[in-house]
Amino acid sequence: MNNRQLFLSHLAQTTDFPLMIEIERASGVYLYGPEGKTYIDLISGIGVSNVGHRHPQVMAAIQKQLDKYLHLMVYGEYVQQAQTSLAEALVNTLPSPLDNVYLVNSGSEAVEGALKLAKRYTNRREIISCIDAYHGSSHGALSVGGNEIFKRAYRPLLPGIGHIRYGEMDQLEKINTETAAVIIETVQGEAGIRVGSKAYFQALRQRCTETGTLLILDEIQAGFGRTGSFWAFEAYDIQPDILVCAKGMGGGMPIGAFVSSREIMTAFKNNPLLGHITTFGGHPVSAAASLATIQVIHKENLTAQVAQKAQLFKELLVHPKIKGIRYKGLMMALEFESFEVLKPIIDRCIAKGVITDWFLFCDDSMRIAPPLTISMEEIRMACTLILESIDEVGK
Ligand code: PMP
Repeated sequence: MNNRQLFLSHLAQTTDFPLMIEIERASGVYLYGPEGKTYIDLISGIGVSNVGHRHPQVMAAIQKQLDKYLHLMVYGEYVQQAQTSLAEALVNTLPSPLDNVYLVNSGSEAVEGALKLAKRYTNRREIISCIDAYHGSSHGALSVGGNEIFKRAYRPLLPGIGHIRYGEMDQLEKINTETAAVIIETVQGEAGIRVGSKAYFQALRQRCTETGTLLILDEIQAGFGRTGSFWAFEAYDIQPDILVCAKGMGGGMPIGAFVSSREIMTAFKNNPLLGHITTFGGHPVSAAASLATIQVIHKENLTAQVAQKAQLFKELLVHPKIKGIRYKGLMMALEFESFEVLKPIIDRCIAKGVITDWFLFCDDSMRIAPPLTISMEEIRMACTLILESIDEVGK
């Protein structure tokens, strides 16, 4: 069997429409397939490769750690420099009192940890999240997800979950003194890039503070420079009680974190009640890659170029079939009439060497989330190929 046949025969299939792109190598904004096929990557493995694929500084950090040790012990027991240096660098990107980092493996695990911590600290049981939110695929994360179709088959899920409409002020009244936490994406990703207003986030922050509710910001997709500031919440002039991050954090390696104040995080410590346990969380190789990723974002000043690059995409991607564009930095959605119109365009883009896709809860919109390192010239090239694809499919 060839590679594609093996993929279909032996790897669990997760979608009716796998992209089925065969990749042999990756570098910067490019992915390379068999027979010299080259692709510009406009999705970064869904917001992961913010510093580009195999960034040399990330690769060097990984290599250095490989020469020291791999896994040693369950997270939180041994003192490992890869983890302590990463925690310090992460804390330096955050306002006080967010100075306590719990390293995990993934976005979903970070969400699980954050929800547990909020219940433990507040001694409350109810959680509020948003309609159309995506927070991950494990049972807890799915419970606070906001798309009923995806949840139906897995009930009963966590009890005590309420939903509000994202971005709507009058919904904030539902947050009360019974609410342990509100979990919300700073920019909604899988809903097709929905951006709340600054006034909304400030009102949300205020309501949480007034009711003693913890505000959990999910920056798993929006963090690590994607929106033009290191954290998307910086643009709203607010701060969370607990921040969850993953994806772009590892520069291509699996790692996530939930971050809070020492005071809140201490709620996990009291024995005999278990806090959160993870064997591989903060794996030293991933932690080393993550530290290098943060350093690259700072050193190459990647956030400073995001607005200009987003603007160029916006200026170039004009076509009668593009009904609109929603974006925050390089987290973009191009709206088409329907999935039926969009899908052949995406297929055509991929055939022509531009990788894009659609959103979990918004299949009429094309995802554009390239590595932040993409050059203006590469943006021009990618947009030309997208526009050509639209025209060719229309013929
Ligand atoms: N939260 C958000 C906002 C996400 O976009 C994702 C992943 N798409 C997750 C949580 C879950 O992350 P993971 O797939 O690493 O579990």
